[in-house]
Amino acid sequence: MDLSVKPGDDFYTYASGNWIKNNPVPAKETRWGSFNVLREFNIQAVRNILTESAKNTSAVPGSVEKRVGDFYAAAMDSAAIDKLGYKPIKNDLKKASKVKTHQQVLDQMAEMRVNGVASPLFGFWVGQDRKNPNVMIPQLSQGGTTLPDRDFYLKNDARSTKIQEAYKSYIVKLFTLTGEKEAKAKKHAETIFNLEKKLAEAQMSRVEMRDPHKTYNKFAVASLSKTTSNIDWKSLMAKMKVTGEDTILVNNPKFFTEINTLLTQTPVSDWQTYLQWNVLKSAAPYLSKPFTDANFAYSQVLSGQKVQTPRWQRMSQLTDGTIGELLGQLYVKKHFQPAAKARMDEMIANLIKAYEIRIKNLDWMSPATKEKALAKLHAFTPKVAYPSKWKNYDGLEIKRESFYQNLRNASVWGYNDMVSQLGKPVDRTRWGMTPATVNAYYSPVMNEIVFPAGILQFPFFDPNADDAVNYGGIGAVIGHEISHGFDDSGSQYDKDGTLRNWWTPEDLSRFKEKASALEKQFNEYTVLDTLKVNGKFTLGENIGDLGGLNAAYEAFKMTKQGQSKEMIDGFTPDQRFFLSWAQVWRTNILPETAAQLIVTDPHSPGEYRTIGTPVNMDAWYEAFNVKPGDKLYKKPEDRIRIW
Ligand SMILES: [Zn+2]
Repeated sequence: MDLSVKPGDDFYTYASGNWIKNNPVPAKETRWGSFNVLREFNIQAVRNILTESAKNTSAVPGSVEKRVGDFYAAAMDSAAIDKLGYKPIKNDLKKASKVKTHQQVLDQMAEMRVNGVASPLFGFWVGQDRKNPNVMIPQLSQGGTTLPDRDFYLKNDARSTKIQEAYKSYIVKLFTLTGEKEAKAKKHAETIFNLEKKLAEAQMSRVEMRDPHKTYNKFAVASLSKTTSNIDWKSLMAKMKVTGEDTILVNNPKFFTEINTLLTQTPVSDWQTYLQWNVLKSAAPYLSKPFTDANFAYSQVLSGQKVQTPRWQRMSQLTDGTIGELLGQLYVKKHFQPAAKARMDEMIANLIKAYEIRIKNLDWMSPATKEKALAKLHAFTPKVAYPSKWKNYDGLEIKRESFYQNLRNASVWGYNDMVSQLGKPVDRTRWGMTPATVNAYYSPVMNEIVFPAGILQFPFFDPNADDAVNYGGIGAVIGHEISHGFDDSGSQYDKDGTLRNWWTPEDLSRFKEKASALEKQFNEYTVLDTLKVNGKFTLGENIGDLGGLNAAYEAFKMTKQGQSKEMIDGFTPDQRFFLSWAQVWRTNILPETAAQLIVTDPHSPGEYRTIGTPVNMDAWYEAFNVKPGDKLYKKPEDRIRIW
């Protein structure tokens, strides 16, 4: 803490100032805060599991330990990987360079997708139909670009131009590493950038993409081909292993009419280059050192990271991202205690109860809408720590000798697993995060809140800490995920996860008015020189925090400590609650990363998450004696109360 600062002037520095000063971003990282400290601790734990599994030569063939150990051992065998150079993708590059017609371009794209090579031109996935969430449906999305956002292609300020140049150099570098002459590689870079720029121009902004109605466009597979006459979706889908589906969801139809035009207007030779690039960029992080170095040099310009993340860490993360539910079985055995689950279950129940009280007391909502909101609240499914049914990746071949083949096999397995869900009942036991993940989520179509074992650790959660610390930490996280069910996007889904309005028009307009006040509050926050927080883009997360911290506080007040005045270390229970919240969000961040996240990350920066919610809570003013004249002071009538 920095007690020389008045909490009412700068609560962030008051709560975390000395930590911020003494904990700069490590050279191998792009930001450093509570999340990262726990992630670092966690990835070390994962590394130990992986190293031991890889060393255990007596592990039974086919066992979880053997498969996980083999995957990691192969991934860490940099000598073998370096020796291969780009050999693992030679054949894919050759195929991409052989396409002769526009139809073959499309066919090759489908082949690359089902073989786990790359996902060029557009996004494709299988998920619940949000207007009929008991049904799985194929879904098409805008895509095909490489830079983190369309803005990076379309803007011409110094920062964007620098990134564009770095991207082109990266393209040149990878092509020359495969033996291409520099002059030709430079031409390729222009071709690829210009093609991707056209795709970027057809893409919707991230703010538009948050609108669940605008992005819901259902087509009969046959009639989609009418608006995109160069693409026979029925046959393309069949090549992508999707048969027997009559309908398809498209998030941005305009994007698809645009690629339809682009497809035939662009010479086949350019598509060859584009396809080759997709092979290259997807494989680069997993090939020999010159490729991984080039990949890091490019990412450095985007993130500002000084030193490449060590191989063990990259490969530990990759193992988690590839076979996370195998690794997860070993992880929870070692790092998760059943007692923690019992405590979490109790806290979730208390948060739901607190939320119920708050909904009933809302002064701006009619009884009719309240009834629907309560029904939704009571329909939430909480998931804690790890899946009740493990995904065992049956049939996925993992060999100690072949890192790249393992990855390819895993991609193919994942693709088949995804399309195999079509035509079957929705599997509600699935998880969208792995057990070792330090994060949590809400799914509107499942109406579920999910907390992997990875986040159930200090500073979010500590079974030995007092309630103030736990409610200000994981309690607020639980509240945040619940609130996503009631944010500007989640509130458009009903208790069954169906995208269907349950609000009276008056209540909805009052909700929008409150949301827009919060949007304005966050629009004022400066991140870096002229860059400000995008209040509209971060609105869902900010409503999540506002609803979440209020509900966590309400739940905390039901505990014994919440009702007492007993000080610990010189702080009252309420002060400890808000300090816990603040210290969860303390973060140092590199300016390059801050500039990138302002465009791509729907969460507000840690500093503003710390203060953005408490300044709207009377309890915070009372806890720290914040008075008119203090810099963060808001008049009671200006404080925003939503949930
Ligand atoms: Zn969130």
